[in-house]
Amino acid sequence: MCKTVATKHTSTELSGTGSVWVISATVTVKFETPAASRVLDDGAKVSGIEYTDRASGETQTVSADGIFVQIGLVPNSAPFADLVELNSLGEIVVDGHCRTGTTGIYAAGDLTTVPYKQIIIAMGEGAKAGLSVFEDFARGNIAALPR
Ligand SMILES: Cc1cc2nc3c(=O)[nH]c(=O)nc-3n(C[C@H](O)[C@H](O)[C@H](O)COP(=O)(O)OP(=O)(O)OC[C@H]3O[C@@H](n4cnc5c(N)ncnc54)[C@H](O)[C@@H]3O)c2cc1C
Repeated sequence: MCKTVATKHTSTELSGTGSVWVISATVTVKFETPAASRVLDDGAKVSGIEYTDRASGETQTVSADGIFVQIGLVPNSAPFADLVELNSLGEIVVDGHCRTGTTGIYAAGDLTTVPYKQIIIAMGEGAKAGLSVFEDFARGNIAALPR
């Protein structure tokens, strides 16, 4: 179907589910980390993408017949930035019990540091967070259960 797949990624290395790549002998996968991108078109159809290379700072152009945009990778954690620790990706740092470093605040799902952003993981983490709340309440570490 195509000979070259050019992948633009916000990180310098693939992580999580992004690390699972099947590379065909007949398809070249180019991996680059743009700082900013702009879709190019000829007025009727997409013709490529222009981007600034994060490492060199140079503007590059890639011709393309089609572009797939992957969404949903930026954690919406800003409202909690003053309450809990965030890592460099903006993920809320949690321990294995979904506890943050702030007593009484728990976090679960994609916006945390837990690896593999998948539905079944987020659901399990939500259950863990609930159990941790109950455990901390039973041990007297928090004063009340959330309503
Ligand atoms: C395009 C795409 C495809 C995917 N495909 C798959 C798949 O095939 N299989 C799979 O297992 N996983 C898939 N995932 C991942 C899966 O969607 C997530 O892992 C899962 O939804 C995480 O659940 P969550 O509850 O942590 O977050 P979310 O499902 O993102 O829920 C967070 C909720 O919080 C709300 N919210 C955000 N900010 C605020 C705020 N300030 N105040 C109030 N509410 C707020 C949002 O509107 C949203 O409803 C996909 C994700 C994307 C983006």
